[in-house]
Amino acid sequence: MGNKIAVPRGTNDILPEEMPLWYEIESVVRECFNLYNYKEIRTPIFEDVGLFQRSLGATSDVVNKQLLCLASDKKEGFALRPEGTASIVRSYIENSMNRKEALSKLFYIGSMFRGERPQKGRLRQFHQIGAEVIGTDVCSPYLDADVIALSVNLLKSFGLNGFKLKINTLGSPEDKETFSSMLRGALQHKMLDLCEDCQDRFDRNVFRILDCKNKECRLIVENLDIGDRYLSQESRDYYCQVMAVLTRLGIEFEESPHLVRGLDYYTHTVFEISDPSLGSQDALGAGGRYNNLVSQLGGPKVDAIGFALGIERILLALGEDQKQALADPLLAYLIVLDENLMDQGVTILNELRSGCISADMSWKNSSMKSQMRQANKMGALNVVFIGADEMERGVVGLKNMETGEQEEISIKDQNFDLLIKKLH
Ligand code: AMP
Repeated sequence: MGNKIAVPRGTNDILPEEMPLWYEIESVVRECFNLYNYKEIRTPIFEDVGLFQRSLGATSDVVNKQLLCLASDKKEGFALRPEGTASIVRSYIENSMNRKEALSKLFYIGSMFRGERPQKGRLRQFHQIGAEVIGTDVCSPYLDADVIALSVNLLKSFGLNGFKLKINTLGSPEDKETFSSMLRGALQHKMLDLCEDCQDRFDRNVFRILDCKNKECRLIVENLDIGDRYLSQESRDYYCQVMAVLTRLGIEFEESPHLVRGLDYYTHTVFEISDPSLGSQDALGAGGRYNNLVSQLGGPKVDAIGFALGIERILLALGEDQKQALADPLLAYLIVLDENLMDQGVTILNELRSGCISADMSWKNSSMKSQMRQANKMGALNVVFIGADEMERGVVGLKNMETGEQEEISIKDQNFDLLIKKLH
């Protein structure tokens, strides 16, 4: 026998028994985005490498260390997308969306790829739910708060509630420049005490030092006294208003001055949502404003804000009860008590499905006990029984698996309306 080939490290099969939950997550997502008037967009899973280098920043960890490039015999360089924003912005520009609408509210659901060292909650192929709002003159604290509220409400609609929202502002591009020189000034004398990664980040991407997980680096960062001195009054007022609107919308948050985000494109509001139950990889999602990215990539001068949530992390954070509540259960499992009644069996099954009742049955003749076991295993909400006696009397047995209640329902003259009504 040849060697077995395994799934690539850091990737997962989503198995048939897990799919109902994924469908449910996706359907809740679509419903929620619909309420907020967002439209879905799908872009390719690979793009020109240059797109990611120019948008995320050639010095970001995602581009520098994690980009999965495709080998090609031509001179083109493609990479699997590590996130969604760059592709959406590329598509926004390429399709001149600004000429079609003043404000584009877009969402996506799809796989992302990063060459990371796999661990619990950190994969090389994972899935994100994301949103991007792009338009002219839409740099408004009200919109920021609305987008943040949407990300929180999405998580709530899955049944999650133990998460924490942290927010911060990086200020305008000019404020961000001031912030980075202040940081370099404050960290310069502590260079040797920083971890090797952070020593490297000092020149490449000094903001990243602020969210380094290393103990010594954390201590140094906690003792930095920069406050919000880098912010202009305008940026400070903007940020205060974002917080005021969030409070008005009943969204709880915590201010987190060290929250930066490692990508070049963010300015002004940034936010992150984490769930302490997840351990070291605790981020459920994150986002922020990126007003200059579209023009930087050759598009019109428009403002933008977005976020992305990780589906695998959401699934890890969901408890069994919450998963059960989300999953679409099987409404009916048909138990045929007599092999000679298979014809009636498939007819009833077909009628139930035509009446929009999800239904299944045992396809081999087995004992009542083993068929009941099967119904339980599938999580069926009801069991429908047919035996010779029932058929003669023109009825079926119906058992509610939650309450244990049992009754007989008429199917006289092959009329299944009553049964379908009961099962809905
Ligand atoms: P990021 O763009 O890194 O802020 O990612 C947004 C969200 O995607 C994170 O908060 C995670 O929930 C999820 N995510 C990012 N990277 C990974 C990964 N390697 N494996 C699983 N989920 C991830």
